[in-house]
Amino acid sequence: MTRPTLLALGTSLPALLPIDALAQDDDRRLLTGAEVVTMQGGWTEPQALDILVEGGRIAEIGPDLASEGAEVIDLSGHVVAPGLVDGHWHMWNSIARGMARSDAGGFSETMGPLARVWTPEASALSVELGMALAVNSGITWVNNWAHNTVSPAHADAEIAAMRDSGVRGRFSYGYPQTAGKGEMMDLEDLCATAADWPDGRIDLGVSLRGPDRSEPEIWQTEIAAARALGLPVTFHMGGSRDAAGQHNAQALASEGMLGEDIHVVHMTSAPRADLETLAQNGSPLIISPWTEMEVGYGVPNPALMQEAGLDMAVSVDNTVLAGQINMFEVMRLTADLGDGFSESQQSLRDATVFDWASRQGAESVQAPEGVGVLQVGGPADLIAVDTESLNTRPSGSMDFLLTHSAEPEDVSFVMIDGAVHKRDGELTRVDIRALTREAAEMLGEISAAAADG
Ligand SMILES: [Zn+2]
Repeated sequence: MTRPTLLALGTSLPALLPIDALAQDDDRRLLTGAEVVTMQGGWTEPQALDILVEGGRIAEIGPDLASEGAEVIDLSGHVVAPGLVDGHWHMWNSIARGMARSDAGGFSETMGPLARVWTPEASALSVELGMALAVNSGITWVNNWAHNTVSPAHADAEIAAMRDSGVRGRFSYGYPQTAGKGEMMDLEDLCATAADWPDGRIDLGVSLRGPDRSEPEIWQTEIAAARALGLPVTFHMGGSRDAAGQHNAQALASEGMLGEDIHVVHMTSAPRADLETLAQNGSPLIISPWTEMEVGYGVPNPALMQEAGLDMAVSVDNTVLAGQINMFEVMRLTADLGDGFSESQQSLRDATVFDWASRQGAESVQAPEGVGVLQVGGPADLIAVDTESLNTRPSGSMDFLLTHSAEPEDVSFVMIDGAVHKRDGELTRVDIRALTREAAEMLGEISAAAADG
């Protein structure tokens, strides 16, 4: 079957500049002058190393590499680290920033009416805005958790926008926000999408309502279908106290439906025994501390999650509640909640939390080999953070700098798949004013359509 492209849908992405910066196979770039945190095997102390990039991959890492035939990029005064990994982000609603904190009510009351009239064009533009925010914050791999997949055209629009962005990540095919507990997701289009899926920067996963938000027959059928296609699965669980009280970790375990391919989000209010059930069955946990508080689930205890033996990833979740897309703030809050709950300084180390946002996070969500680390042969997805800025100099240790001092504005340089997406602190592929104007207009149109009922 022929998949409709964004062009065929009659949409365009005028705010996205031409793909002049995307890497060619014969491109050679030498990154020099920086201290490098490779994250090979976990936190690594910074070392003065050069990185040679050829095409989209890291060809060499070492001191004083020869620059012959390469564009030399001087990153003196910076630390180079793997690009950050976001484990859970509903990119479809990025243009609706802050809508869930209005006088009209919370997430369900405000986003429900909008979700019903949401268009493929709005989803695509939201992904485009989200990807600009991701790059700006140093995120180079994102799990786009598409929980308003109203139609196949909505899925296609998000996928096309992800591919156009040049950012690496996963499209986690979902369901309409309005789906009832007894309604099945569109498994037919999921199968068609999987059958046509090309290799590239974007891989395919499945986001479900899971046992907290759908009937047993539904979630069991949907998980089985995803597994038959070999796709990773993700769903929210145990966020609110009521949801945690269902103890669905036990139901999943007894059905044999936990494992490395089942990626659980939240568990904010879950007891230790349920966290341990996930860990013992190999399922990782993805948390979004800011939005878990903002949506009223409670306050996550990352130290308890670590003690339970879970593989962890962190996430920004959305702009609707969070406003900012700021992985540095997510890391800082995650580390500090660990200390607060433990009533003990440094119970959750900054180096550990940076690992959750890079190497371990990538492994937890089954991102492709080499994502979240800097290694020869791996994808050239990396960031350079200014270590001489107002925020960062002087600063304590490098893991402290990367989790407690730096801000998105300190991310001077972002490379994804060998292509430069941010240079000298400026996004290279995005006309920010055009993008935000278009986003505001689109949100206005959607809001008007929702008001018309
Ligand atoms: Zn979510």
